[in-house]
Amino acid sequence: MLGLMMDAPLLIPSILEYAAKYHPNTEIVSRNEDHSLHRYTYAEALVRTRKLANALNRLGLKAGDRVATLAWNNYRHLEMYYAVPGAGMVCHTVNPRLFKEQIEYIINDAQDQYIFTDPCFAPLVEAMIMNLPSVKGVVVMGSREQMPGNILHRALCYEDLLVAESPVFEWPQFDERTASGLCYTSGTTGHPKGVLYSHRSTVLHAMAINQPGLFGFGPDETVMPVVPMFHVNAWCVPYAAPLVGARLVLPGPRLDGPGLLEVIRGEGVTVSAGVPTIWMNLLNHCAQTNQSVAPMRRVVIGGAAVPQVLIDGFAAHQALAVQGWGMTETSPLGAVSVLDTRHDDLPAEDRMALQLKAGRSPFGIEMRITDAEGKALPWDGKTRGELEVRGPWVASAYYNLDDRDQFTKDGWFRTGDISTIDADGFMNIVDRVKDVIKTGGEWISSIELENLALQHPSVREAAVIARADTKWSERPRFILALHPGKTITGAELRKVVEPFVARWWIPEDFIVVDEIPHTATGKILKTALRELYGVENHPDAQKM
Ligand code: ADP
Repeated sequence: MLGLMMDAPLLIPSILEYAAKYHPNTEIVSRNEDHSLHRYTYAEALVRTRKLANALNRLGLKAGDRVATLAWNNYRHLEMYYAVPGAGMVCHTVNPRLFKEQIEYIINDAQDQYIFTDPCFAPLVEAMIMNLPSVKGVVVMGSREQMPGNILHRALCYEDLLVAESPVFEWPQFDERTASGLCYTSGTTGHPKGVLYSHRSTVLHAMAINQPGLFGFGPDETVMPVVPMFHVNAWCVPYAAPLVGARLVLPGPRLDGPGLLEVIRGEGVTVSAGVPTIWMNLLNHCAQTNQSVAPMRRVVIGGAAVPQVLIDGFAAHQALAVQGWGMTETSPLGAVSVLDTRHDDLPAEDRMALQLKAGRSPFGIEMRITDAEGKALPWDGKTRGELEVRGPWVASAYYNLDDRDQFTKDGWFRTGDISTIDADGFMNIVDRVKDVIKTGGEWISSIELENLALQHPSVREAAVIARADTKWSERPRFILALHPGKTITGAELRKVVEPFVARWWIPEDFIVVDEIPHTATGKILKTALRELYGVENHPDAQKM
């Protein structure tokens, strides 16, 4: 017997309609390329979004067509987030910091019909356009004055498109499983793969992250997604914040320490989200200039392991740093490390040990760890296996790619992360399958070693890679970037690591570099480090 409740589809535009109706005067503040601020309200955003939907139809775009964006976190990008899927098309957020060849590959794979670009990426689009046969037109997301002069002659102007349109638009009603957004993995471990979100997965995920203890935004908060809108829908923050009527701050391109602090303090940001490197830069800037991160009181950090210095650093400003784990394929939220009352009486170091884990799944995500034969492994906090997940906002396949190896026959997604899970369900990532260091047949956790190295005050950033070894096949090696003017000796490094790990885990040597290379989304590019520093005897290696 079926229930007798209404079958209202979960569609993305309903979020903005809701915000405009119940929080019409709540502000969206957006920082432009020239660092000036643009302000408007949810009510005004909705009017422009409806106009944009009309403009998309006028361009001849049809249901299911892919529309690419190359844009920072700004209000026009937000309008695209709602108008494109709302009108039935698919919003393909492209990461402009990938290599040109990778962007071309992604746009051709997606067969995008139009590109909507920030003015600053116009030269990039111009350089690629001849290699993008599916693209019928380019729209520059700016006013007439911001149109590029001598390139992209036939590009359309976003503001001109909107002026011509009516603010009346009836959002079409369709199956909530309709595709809404497309995002390619950043390709840290291989060719980028397309993840195709649906209206249902996006709305459910936005509702899920708003639970207390997760992102849990409220109407009294000012929320700033620092994670870019071209990276996993900015972790869905641009959908989750309007859903509860929170004030939204979109920081634009300037994401260095001073740039972030200016907008946090100037606009009263209370909660934010982003990858660890961004926050390291912010805290370093605060320390150098003796300023606080107030009024920011909560930061969700994920995308890479969160080191203790970051949690301690925010705590020193009375701000709570919450670690989350996720992937492009999981929309992204898969786990959050939030303590509960049972942990109140634990000693400080035990509480910290939990905060350093990736955390527990929210309702909606199931996880398990498996061995090489696919057998489920125990949740004892020690046994390591490949992490597998499933749930209504986890990818069931890749777009335009038959990659069955990543999906199990019984319906789980294989993450490629190696992890442990303890009896309480706290999951801890110890490595990625491709980064794993196997020495004499045993695994070493590079993440654990990296976190220990960061305890040394001279170390700004740490990576552990596998180097070749005649006897053990692979051995770990530290690659370190130091704070300006600081030094480190092998003996000092050994001292911070030695008490906490087995003797055979301790690397024999380390290399100090000026900068550690990062992926377009701010993660350490281990493939590049292995290529540069992976030989057994490297001339720059110092003994430890
Ligand atoms: P890519 O796979 O190309 O790096 P994603 O942004 O989808 O792009 O990255 C997902 C990966 O990031 C995860 O599989 C995991 O390895 C890593 N990751 C995310 N959050 C954490 C975390 N809290 N701790 C450790 N690793 C993390």
